[in-house]
Amino acid sequence: MGAFSTRSLTIAYVFALALVALMSLVSHLTLRQVLEQHEGAASVVNISGRQRMLSQRIASLSAQWAMGDADARRDLGETIDRFSAAHARLMTGDETLGLPEPSTPELKALYFGGADPLNEQVKSYIAKARAVRDMASDDPHIHAALAPLFAAAREPLLSGLDRVVSEHERTSRSRLKMLQWLQNASLVVVLLTLLAEAVGIFRPMVGRISNYTKKLITIATTDPLTGALNRRSFTERALAELARGRRYDRPTSMLMIDADRFKSVNDTYGHAGGDAVLQALTSSLGQTLRPSDVFGRLGGEEFGVILPETGLDDAAHVAERIRAELASLVVGSNGGSIRFTVSIGVSQFELGATELKPTLDRADAALYQAKAQGRDCVVRSLAPEVPTPISIMAVA
Ligand code: GH3
Ligand code: MG
Ligand code: MG
Repeated sequence: MGAFSTRSLTIAYVFALALVALMSLVSHLTLRQVLEQHEGAASVVNISGRQRMLSQRIASLSAQWAMGDADARRDLGETIDRFSAAHARLMTGDETLGLPEPSTPELKALYFGGADPLNEQVKSYIAKARAVRDMASDDPHIHAALAPLFAAAREPLLSGLDRVVSEHERTSRSRLKMLQWLQNASLVVVLLTLLAEAVGIFRPMVGRISNYTKKLITIATTDPLTGALNRRSFTERALAELARGRRYDRPTSMLMIDADRFKSVNDTYGHAGGDAVLQALTSSLGQTLRPSDVFGRLGGEEFGVILPETGLDDAAHVAERIRAELASLVVGSNGGSIRFTVSIGVSQFELGATELKPTLDRADAALYQAKAQGRDCVVRSLAPEVPTPISIMAVA
């Protein structure tokens, strides 16, 4: 995880985001193409189908005109014009109708290639029909002019128009298949990118944040020199223990520990020697105390201990053990081996106490007394006054 810098994670993140955006765009454009393709194919099929019908209508109206039906002539003219206009549109495409121009080689070949291209067939059909329309209905040549028209309408034209429709359908199907493939591929890329993002970016990022958070918590709650709880978090933990003792009606005690004549330790062995003593004192306390005890550096060479589930007598025993332990400790430093002692004040919380200060003050007073008595000793404060329960007073 350390291998990735914040900068490279950010770059990777931006890249992944850009890739997802690109794929979304591809997907969007593909979908638009699919819709256009569908619309185009529908339009071609529709118009080609109508051309089929118009071609037959032209043949039939021509016959009616030749038989002397005067109304048929006007209809014939109109039908030829519609047929011709629609053919022109099929040849060039028409955006307003969503009609594509013939773009594939197969369609181009059908319309324009080979020996008998459809475009020429249609044009010659239109020319023949116009010729019939322009003849008088009693013109002796009109029946001769009808014959090729009928012949063309029956076979080459119809099947040519049919081939156009099926060619358009085939092209459209294969294009749709390709577009579908493209869409699936972009979906896969998006999903893979998201997965890579989760594994390669999100996970290390979260790991790093949680590491930083742990470091921040350590910095905020502990003393950098000794690693013991700082005064603020010692107070928080002490209050929590006090509340627990209150809830279960259990005794809680406190120790105030102060290194004796620490100034002279510093003077003799240097500040680094003093620091080494504070560190040794902390690690020794950590080994002597129970994990449930709360211990912190209150400032300078002064430490506080909260002993849950412990009354004044037991607390005094713990204090004595600590004192003896520390008195026997030899701390190595550049200036030489250091021996030191501590004085300890002991006090017990009153039952139901909600604050630290009164008990802390009593422990402090006991500590002051220990200093006055010559140091390297434990002094307990008087036991807190326990109010006599009313029921006992009543019995008395
Ligand atoms: P007493 O026996 O009465 O407690 O005497 P003392 O010299 O220990 O008490 P005093 O309060 O006069 O001096 C405490 C000294 O502790 C002064 C200060 O320089 C030293 N001190 C406080 N914090 C640190 C620290 O982090 N490192 C070191 N090396 N010394 C410290
Ligand atoms: Mg001191
Ligand atoms: Mg002090």
